Amino acid sequence: MKKIQMVDLVTQYEKIKDEVDQATQNVFQTAQFINGPEVKSFQTELEDYLGVKHVIPCANGTDALQIALMALGLEPGDEVITSDFTFAATVEVIGLLKLQPVLVDVDRDTFNISIAEIEKAITPKTKAIIPVHLFGQCSNMDAIMALAKKHNIAVVEDTAQGIGAIHTSADGTKRAAGTIGDIGTTSFFPSKNLGCFGDGGAIFTNNDELAVILRSIVNHGMGKRYYYDRLGVNSRLDSVQAAVLRIKLRHLDDYIDARQKAAAYYSEFFKDDNRVETPKIADYSTHVFHQYTLKIKGLDQFGLQEYLKSKDIPAMIYYPVPLHTQKAYGADEYNHDDFPVTNELCECVISLPMHTELSEEQLSYICESVKSYLK
Ligand SMILES: *Cc1c(COP(=O)(O)O)cnc(C)c1O
Repeated sequence: MKKIQMVDLVTQYEKIKDEVDQATQNVFQTAQFINGPEVKSFQTELEDYLGVKHVIPCANGTDALQIALMALGLEPGDEVITSDFTFAATVEVIGLLKLQPVLVDVDRDTFNISIAEIEKAITPKTKAIIPVHLFGQCSNMDAIMALAKKHNIAVVEDTAQGIGAIHTSADGTKRAAGTIGDIGTTSFFPSKNLGCFGDGGAIFTNNDELAVILRSIVNHGMGKRYYYDRLGVNSRLDSVQAAVLRIKLRHLDDYIDARQKAAAYYSEFFKDDNRVETPKIADYSTHVFHQYTLKIKGLDQFGLQEYLKSKDIPAMIYYPVPLHTQKAYGADEYNHDDFPVTNELCECVISLPMHTELSEEQLSYICESVKSYLK
């Protein structure tokens, strides 16, 4: 059996090697490394795939979040609500811009931001909400958009883990993750569902005015050439990455399918085991399984991780420490007991290997190994 990886990017590359090598060689030979035709083509192809008016490529998913918040024209001290249970980048950029992060607890079933907790946290200073489509499934966007509309709050969807997920609204409308709020952001970090061969990211919007501002901010705040209308940053997706992404985008639906098949295998195996809880899929979203995350009951998740490691199986704890306890994000301002779900999740989650290249033999070996520890 092939060695099991948390994410197997080598095998994935081997399957598209000819296409990728040709496309990257072409960039080298034309030397249009920055804002070349590959970037423009990728932008258009991703707009078509997502069904969104504007895609603005940028350097990484953290920049995408920062630029999205910069475009909203917020004032220092304005409050931005986000999830306590997410990757640090989401809350980091809020603080960097001298905005006030307001962390709220999550929903136990979906790992996504709790609607009731958002509602409790809204104040007259709340100017934005950043729902994170964690592990590959959309937050409850109908409820979030309704709250945002009622209180006149902007919504920035962090789609770094959820690209390709489809949200279904109560009226049946289906939209891609990241295209429902005012702005969506994503990351093309290599291990993400649509990953490049380095760093990359993108911002999405259906709003023409925001698109102009976002395009200006990624390019030093420039409007007309050499006229700077606002403070911006330098955040670009390079042409080599765009060339890789164009090819991988054509395979994204197959990649999602492969992840969903692996997830279905795990969930079927553990369905009758009351010591583990398998991921629940909300009725308003598909799940693209960036991670496959179990909750284990009454057992040490780090013990299981160590045990699996001894069997040559990598597993990860996403995430072991709630953000409200982190020094950098204002730990003193929070009451630990206000986050019962995140506190519990940080002590019971474990993510199993999840990627596009898992064989049945590997999946079976992983499942049997987990089971033998749970005995
Ligand atoms: C990966 C990730 C980011 C940051 O993306 P980078 O490209 O690494 O900067 C932001 N938010 C979430 C939820 C992520 O998983």
